[in-house]
Amino acid sequence: MTVIEPYVHWNGRVTPTEEARVSVLDTGYLYGDGIYETMRAYGGSAFALDRHLARLRRSGDAIGLRTLNEGDLRVRVTEVMEANGLADAVLRITLTRGQLEKRLDLSTCGEPSVLITAYPIDSAADTARRQGIRVVHSRFLRLTEFSLAGIKTTNYQVSLFARNEAREAGADEVLLANETGDIVEGAASNVFLVTEGELLTPPLGTGILGGITRETVLEIAEREGIPTREKTLPKDLLARADELFLTGTTVQVAPVVCVGDSPVADGRPGSITRSLHDLYMDAVHADTGAASAARSASS
Ligand code: PMP
Repeated sequence: MTVIEPYVHWNGRVTPTEEARVSVLDTGYLYGDGIYETMRAYGGSAFALDRHLARLRRSGDAIGLRTLNEGDLRVRVTEVMEANGLADAVLRITLTRGQLEKRLDLSTCGEPSVLITAYPIDSAADTARRQGIRVVHSRFLRLTEFSLAGIKTTNYQVSLFARNEAREAGADEVLLANETGDIVEGAASNVFLVTEGELLTPPLGTGILGGITRETVLEIAEREGIPTREKTLPKDLLARADELFLTGTTVQVAPVVCVGDSPVADGRPGSITRSLHDLYMDAVHADTGAASAARSASS
């Protein structure tokens, strides 16, 4: 269970969580109009913080929401971790447009609201994930032809409902298809498949989020000379996959060992997945200087 931490960073100040209040006229509250980033800190440093802040800026540019200067955000991220006594944490920066003076008129917005939260890492979940996770198919679609595709907005209902399907099915995550029925993404993760020694992942431009973990894994695969192709994943290919895995800031590189009731290959994490997991942890280690990066289950 996620513990509510004692402090958040709210509009520039470390504030006791129960004292942070948002206006009922905030566009984020009324319309889900905001942007966010989720990061993971290891030993006091957020992994790939530059990339996360750059993506936050791109999301802000896409919806015309001014973000704070990056130096300010870096300080706030550190302050909220320190206030909660956390060195390893899941961090989230959320920005909304603030309060509108006139209904539906974005030109009348005030100052953006800026929230930064830090939650402890669930290390038992990390350990369990390395043994392999189970996914099910979602009835929700990730639409390629969606105007806000690829932007990390707080308008997160599709992922929220889809993730709920996973919970109801006793699974860890769901896979979302696009309009043509091909798998393109998890509810809150990107998806990779290995077949005949080739790594496949759906391309950006299919409505998916350009995950920072996905980007890092693609860089590692290129460096390691693993043949890689960006393409959507027909459902029947999943049934024939040698390996399947998900990527995300929180889940890192998570082997999928079961889709619905069908095992993926022999039902155990595959060797390419395990090696990409370990190389990803090395990249985390190199970027953050964190001392220990857990290795893959059976490597
Ligand atoms: N897709 C979606 C819809 C997500 O919410 C996330 C998690 N932020 C991801 C992919 C993975 O992105 P990242 O690797 O940047 O965490």
